[in-house]
Amino acid sequence: MSAATKSVSLFDRLPPVRGAYQADYPLSRITWFKVGGVADVLFRPADADDLAAFLAGCPTDIPVTVLGVGSNVLVRDGGIRGVVVRLGRGFTDIVVEDTRVVAGGGALDINVARVAADAGLAGLEFLSGVPGTIGGAVRMNAGAYGGDLGGILDSVVLLDRAGRAKTLTRDDLSFAYRQSRLPPQSIVVRAVLGGTPSDTAAVHGRMTEIKQAREATQPVRTRTGGSTFRNPCGPEGDAPRAWQLIDDAGCRGLTRGGAMVSPVHCNFLENTGQATAADLEALGEEVRQRVAEQTGVHLQWEIERLGEPARGTS
Ligand SMILES: Cc1cc2nc3c(=O)[nH]c(=O)nc-3n(C[C@H](O)[C@H](O)[C@H](O)COP(=O)(O)OP(=O)(O)OC[C@H]3O[C@@H](n4cnc5c(N)ncnc54)[C@H](O)[C@@H]3O)c2cc1C
Repeated sequence: MSAATKSVSLFDRLPPVRGAYQADYPLSRITWFKVGGVADVLFRPADADDLAAFLAGCPTDIPVTVLGVGSNVLVRDGGIRGVVVRLGRGFTDIVVEDTRVVAGGGALDINVARVAADAGLAGLEFLSGVPGTIGGAVRMNAGAYGGDLGGILDSVVLLDRAGRAKTLTRDDLSFAYRQSRLPPQSIVVRAVLGGTPSDTAAVHGRMTEIKQAREATQPVRTRTGGSTFRNPCGPEGDAPRAWQLIDDAGCRGLTRGGAMVSPVHCNFLENTGQATAADLEALGEEVRQRVAEQTGVHLQWEIERLGEPARGTS
């Protein structure tokens, strides 16, 4: 069955929506690595009600995958089957209520940090160092520079696979280092975050420090996916960090096709221009193997690898 035929029959089974469906959408357009095959269908819901109606009406045998801005994913070259949901306008509102910031699941972390700073709320500055959305930050318990999402989250509103809205608190989500117990298949549509009253200029000053620190230590203007592997010791601790293990194993600057271990930060992989997802994944596996051989430590992927390899590859 051709890709076009397959998408037509999939469309026939999807419910009517107010947002937009696009068939055979190249996910390389919306991921930070700029690699990845097509989504059978990309769905941009108009708002949370539209998304709920879609989930309620989408047959359960059709896989549904949600993406934020793709800053923590490596989409394989064969793409993602079923429907990929991309939260955009309709999910980006950010409202301050007293010491709380209520943000849509598609709001950019940096915008949430800015709104909080303008309102004189401290504690959310670290979000300015994470280039994803609030939904992605909840899923990954994003953290940087001493803060993490689990430390500031009050509650989230999510939609389950049947489109039912549920509110979960921080305790329900059992946050740990770069992970949360967000129920599988659920989509965060809103999060309530808590800040502490502070001086606006001081909060903005802290955000400037974070920006400068990131630009000095991370390849922030390249096609990358952030930290590739989890630190074996968690966010802190005395054990060597992933980048140190990778550096000690001689992998700094290592290449495979168009993929490269960043010379700036060894725990980042870069697409130097023409990399495939297979190049990036194979390079990551080579790094894991070299580190294991040299140190006995088995690094675990932090980047989420999604989808299928290209046809004819395994
Ligand atoms: C240059 C660079 C620097 C980075 N620095 C940091 C850092 O300092 N700290 C850090 O923690 N991370 C960092 N990252 C990784 C990344 O930005 C975070 O993990 C971010 O939270 C991912 O958000 P996203 O919207 O891009 O999610 P995506 O990458 O699109 O998705 C990541 C996961 O979240 C899920 N998801 C996305 N949206 C939703 C939603 N609405 N509801 C439910 N699940 C959802 C996806 O299904 C997927 O499983 C960095 C990445 C880059 C490229």
